[in-house]
Amino acid sequence: MISTADIQKITRGVLRLNEPMERYSTFMVGGPADYYLEPLNQEDFVSVATYFSDNGVPFVLCSNKSNILVSEEGFRGAVINIEPGVSAISSSQNVVSAQAGAKLGKLIDYCVSCGLSGMEPFAGIAGTVGGAVAMNRRSSNACITDHAEHVEIVRSGQVMLVANGNGSYETKRFLVERDIVLRVKFKLISSANNDILTSRRKFLIQQNKKQPVNIPSTGSIFRDPPQESAEALIRDSGVKKWTHGGASVVDDHPNLLRADNASPEDMFRLIRIMHDVVLEKHGLSLEYDVRCLGFEQELIGTAA
Ligand SMILES: Cc1cc2nc3c(=O)[nH]c(=O)nc-3n(C[C@H](O)[C@H](O)[C@H](O)COP(=O)(O)OP(=O)(O)OC[C@H]3O[C@@H](n4cnc5c(N)ncnc54)[C@H](O)[C@@H]3O)c2cc1C
Repeated sequence: MISTADIQKITRGVLRLNEPMERYSTFMVGGPADYYLEPLNQEDFVSVATYFSDNGVPFVLCSNKSNILVSEEGFRGAVINIEPGVSAISSSQNVVSAQAGAKLGKLIDYCVSCGLSGMEPFAGIAGTVGGAVAMNRRSSNACITDHAEHVEIVRSGQVMLVANGNGSYETKRFLVERDIVLRVKFKLISSANNDILTSRRKFLIQQNKKQPVNIPSTGSIFRDPPQESAEALIRDSGVKKWTHGGASVVDDHPNLLRADNASPEDMFRLIRIMHDVVLEKHGLSLEYDVRCLGFEQELIGTAA
């Protein structure tokens, strides 16, 4: 059993106890985490994560928290938020280095200012570099690691570089469970500023059409099965207009949930219903993209 004093010895960053997670989530829902930390910088982050691993304390990394749902009773472990302290972006020629907590929007703005193209398909997407790489996100046929030269990670307590594979989307999931993303180096294409801005605008318009704007909502609830679209399967199953308490399926993008004074349990139940209805109608058990923590049955997404 560790104590607050033990944790304070290993971090110079923020430590809060019993912190409500609704404050940090894109859908503004979530019970408390026993420990909530914001490491000061990358070094601090690595020591905190290593300490929790070594001492068997359950912990979850979060950055933008669009795919993490914590129950009303809370998560008996630590939530480590790297967005404030581990989010620097720098560049050298056409290589941009982004720390895991950097927001995708900030990264794209930075690339525009450097005249570098490649990241525009992710315009308008809530989330951070680390979360997107851990979940192997894609948008408009682009994969987040398409332009990644390598990813700096922590694996079994060791900091190492993992080179990007050249394989298909599926084989690009080169991280293994519990890997921690620290930084990604993207090799991008020099391009005229106006062209990048036009391309960014095009993707932003596309994205805003398929996601609720100005309404608190989750990221994708289910991962696309090979050769299928989770969204299409959900739509075909007729759950499009479904609600449970304050949680409802987003009309135009039924793989997202919106929250309107929803409790974590409302969200969790609706997620289970969606899963079970698709299973019944299509015989397919969808893999969860969302990570549900502290519920009677934990639904663990595929990321760390
Ligand atoms: C309305 C909306 C629409 C979206 N549409 C799209 C879309 O069309 N295409 C798309 O690609 N994405 C989309 N997203 C984003 C996507 O669903 C994920 O939410 C996002 O990529 C996850 O990033 P995050 O920073 O929010 O991660 P979090 O929700 O904080 O974390 C997600 C998972 O990643 C893990 N994780 C976080 N950081 C790290 C790290 N540094 N190392 C290892 N593991 C880590 C967490 O433990 C967790 O398991 C959308 C999001 C929203 C809110």
